[in-house]
Amino acid sequence: MQYFSLNKQAEKVSFKEAVIKGLAPDKGLYFPETITKLPTRFFDRIEQLEDHEIAFHVIDQFVGGEIPAPELKQILKEVLSFDFPLVEVKPDIFSLELFHGPTLAFKDVGARFMARCLGYFNREKQAEKVTVLVATSGDTGGAVANGFFNVPGVEVVILYPSGKVSEIQEKQLTTLGKNISAMEVKGNFDDCQTMVKQAFLDEDFAGKVKLTSANSINVARWLPQMFYYFSAYKRLKEKGKPIIFSVPSGNFGNICAGMMARKLGLPIAHFITGTNENDVVPEYLRTGIYQQKNTISTISNAMDVAAPSNFVRIKELYDHDLEKLREDLSGYSYTDTQNLMVMKDLCGAYSYTADPHGAIGFAALSDYITENDFQGIGVFLETAHPVKFLDVIPKEIAEQITLPESIQAIIDKEKSAMQISSYKELKDYLLR
Ligand SMILES: *Cc1c(COP(=O)(O)O)cnc(C)c1O
Repeated sequence: MQYFSLNKQAEKVSFKEAVIKGLAPDKGLYFPETITKLPTRFFDRIEQLEDHEIAFHVIDQFVGGEIPAPELKQILKEVLSFDFPLVEVKPDIFSLELFHGPTLAFKDVGARFMARCLGYFNREKQAEKVTVLVATSGDTGGAVANGFFNVPGVEVVILYPSGKVSEIQEKQLTTLGKNISAMEVKGNFDDCQTMVKQAFLDEDFAGKVKLTSANSINVARWLPQMFYYFSAYKRLKEKGKPIIFSVPSGNFGNICAGMMARKLGLPIAHFITGTNENDVVPEYLRTGIYQQKNTISTISNAMDVAAPSNFVRIKELYDHDLEKLREDLSGYSYTDTQNLMVMKDLCGAYSYTADPHGAIGFAALSDYITENDFQGIGVFLETAHPVKFLDVIPKEIAEQITLPESIQAIIDKEKSAMQISSYKELKDYLLR
């Protein structure tokens, strides 16, 4: 399998190289050269397969034999060692809970898969250290830190916006130590992401530091997210109704993976994206104008992204045809005030506790269903455990949430982070 850069100014690379490089030399995101539909017989018997077996069928063509089948199967077994419960919140409306992994974020799956791929590719020449450089608006950091902790030959540097991640999120990425370093950046998430992009283009690292990304720009972080959609379908198939997915989106990696799953033949009737006030994509769908704005800080901070990096992949999947995209994707955005009301409503009317991201997924799903009189099954992705957002969830709901064990273990640990405010400080650190 070859990957090409969406900027089309770089050479094609193998899966391994795409994973190690992260971003192509021309700043483009890597995209698979071919996408082959899965055979009908796979969908006919999908309910007989375990999640990790499904995952193997789904990802195999994208790994292209660069990790032998037995090793790849083992990696997938380890990656998917926790559940993805489907909770029926009200008739035919399901929450697909993706937060039962080690850092209580859906990003655990992508981070764990990427770490194991990198570990496999690095298995023989551990002298050639790889540095994973990643910007986080909250959840990526913890998932990447946990996924890569103690992986031989891999150093991890995480940039996060100071004061803009929750206390639990900060603890998850600043308390591990060893091969994990945290950088607290004076600025917002886009500032962090800009520094990371700048580092990837900096020629001064050549021959000295081998940098790679672990944001959803990296194909090994992005593609495994297809599994969620297959896993949900497997369980909902017997109902025999059309299925739509609503995805709370920031960088649009997760929803783009869902669209890839559909390309592979998964029968998904429609996608809905929910955003907070960082609404460049819903606005684009509405007006046809892609208007870049400044990032707005919200209570759903994992989606505080003004320039969603994966949207170019979505455009590629739809041949840069807005009308075609509109047939499959609807978008809605919500203010914090609306979000708080949705969380209260979900808790009051349906006894369901959502985090501020899942709540937006639910709201967007509900609005789409009402506007289109949709008859079928609606699934919203619940992307993080509400405990990670205790400081912004309505107090009466927050009080009912109990701290999971994995959080209890880190909450009293001491934070260790380096404060930086410029790219130069990051560079000096990496070249130290
Ligand atoms: C990262 C994240 C999102 C956004 O996912 P994208 O793939 O970047 O669109 C949504 N919710 C939570 C909790 C997240 O951590």
